[in-house]
Amino acid sequence: MHGLMQDRPLLISSLIEHAATFHPHTEIVSRLPEGTVHRTDWLGVCMRSRQVANALKGLGIQQGDRVGTLAWNSYRHLALYYGVSGSGAVLHTVNPRLFPEQIDYIINHAEDRVLFFDITFAPLVEQLAPQLKSVQAFIAMTDRAHMPAINVPNLLCFDELMDAQSTDYTWPEFDEKSASSLCYTSGTTGNPKGVLYSHRSTLLHTLMELAPDTFGISSAETLMLIVPMFHANAWGAPYAAAMVGAKLVLPGPHLDGESVYNLMHDEKVTFSQGVPTVWMMLFQHLDKNPQLDPRTLGVKRIGIGGAAVSRAVLERFESQFGAEVVQGWGMTETSPIGVISKLLPKHAGVDPEELVKVKLKQGRGVWGVDLKIVDADGRALPWDGVAFGSLYVRGPWIASGYYRGEGGSVLDEDGFFPTGDVATIDPDGYLQLVDRAKDVIKSGGEWISSIDVENAAASHPDVAESAVIGVSHPKWQERPLLLVVRRPGTSVSPQALMEHLGARIAKWWLPDEVLFVDALPHTATGKLLKTKLREQYRDHQLPTA
Ligand code: ADP
Repeated sequence: MHGLMQDRPLLISSLIEHAATFHPHTEIVSRLPEGTVHRTDWLGVCMRSRQVANALKGLGIQQGDRVGTLAWNSYRHLALYYGVSGSGAVLHTVNPRLFPEQIDYIINHAEDRVLFFDITFAPLVEQLAPQLKSVQAFIAMTDRAHMPAINVPNLLCFDELMDAQSTDYTWPEFDEKSASSLCYTSGTTGNPKGVLYSHRSTLLHTLMELAPDTFGISSAETLMLIVPMFHANAWGAPYAAAMVGAKLVLPGPHLDGESVYNLMHDEKVTFSQGVPTVWMMLFQHLDKNPQLDPRTLGVKRIGIGGAAVSRAVLERFESQFGAEVVQGWGMTETSPIGVISKLLPKHAGVDPEELVKVKLKQGRGVWGVDLKIVDADGRALPWDGVAFGSLYVRGPWIASGYYRGEGGSVLDEDGFFPTGDVATIDPDGYLQLVDRAKDVIKSGGEWISSIDVENAAASHPDVAESAVIGVSHPKWQERPLLLVVRRPGTSVSPQALMEHLGARIAKWWLPDEVLFVDALPHTATGKLLKTKLREQYRDHQLPTA
């Protein structure tokens, strides 16, 4: 027997209409690539997104067609989020930090019919345009005065095109399982693969994100999105903000420490989300400007994901900002939230040193995501916080496969997705990432977590960044090599660093060698590019070998 409730589809267009109706005058502030600060509100974004939908219709875009963006976080990108998906087309957010060959591959693979781009990327678009056979129009996201002088076919001006459209538009109703947006993984191994979200998966993920025990976003929030809108839908925040009518602050390409700090100050940001690398830039700005007191900013929470939160980052946000750090773990394939770290009532009054250990875990399960860890034979491991194995996840916002079947069928027989991460889960349901399966160091049949060694190194005041990789060893198969970027003007020695590590990690986890380097390579999403490091040090002779 079916229930007698209305069968209304969960559609992204409902979010923007809700925000425009109930929070019309809540501000959306953008720092544009043009350099200026732009202000609009949810009503303005709604009108713009209806104009986007009308413009797409005029360009002959049909339901299911892919529409590409190469863009920073801004109100124009936000209007595309709603206008493209709301009209039934698929918003394909392309990561502009990828190599040009990868961008070329992705846009051709997705067969984008229109490409919207920020003027920052005009030279890149001009370079790629001859190869982008499916793209029928290139739309520069700017006004007439800032139009780039590039030679691409059918170049249009966003503001002009949209101003000419009606703000009347009736959002179509369709199956909530229809594709809404497309995001390619950054392809640290092989070609990037497309993750295709649906309206239903997006709305369920959004509902989950608002709960007090997750990100707890409400209309009282001023949310600054440092995480780019081209990376896993900016962790879903553009949708979450509309669902509750939060104020949004969109920093555009201006992600240096000073710009981020000033925007936090000027717009009274209460919650900001980003990967650890951007927070390192913010800390560097504070180190250079000791007269600044971040406590006066009123930032209440900082969301961090994409890479492990180190103790140093956690403690700086707590002590210098008076802010709570909310860590999340996830991937492009998980929309991206898989687990979120929040304390439980039982943690009240717990010894601060014990509490830090809990806070540094990636987080607890949220409703909607089933977790399991398994051993090499696929047997489920206990949730004792000690046993570690391959992490699998299942749920209504977890990918069931990749766009156009790339990579074949990926789920196990119970419908779980293999994350490629290795983790423990403790009796309270807190997941702790030991490593990515391919980064773990296999020493004499035992595993060393590169994350734990890196975090121990990062807690030394002279260490700006570090990476640990496994280097082949005649006796142990692999042993850890620690690469360190020193903070400018500091001079910690390898011996001093080893002593520091010795007090924090097991003796057999200690690196066999410490090397100082000027910089470490990163992926397009700001993660350490360990494949490159492993290649670079493949034939490296450890002193212990
Ligand atoms: P990519 O395209 O580089 O895979 P993703 O954002 O999808 O980009 O990366 C997901 C991976 O990032 C996860 O599988 C995990 O290894 C890592 N990751 C995400 N969040 C965290 C976290 N809080 N701590 C440690 N690692 C994380």
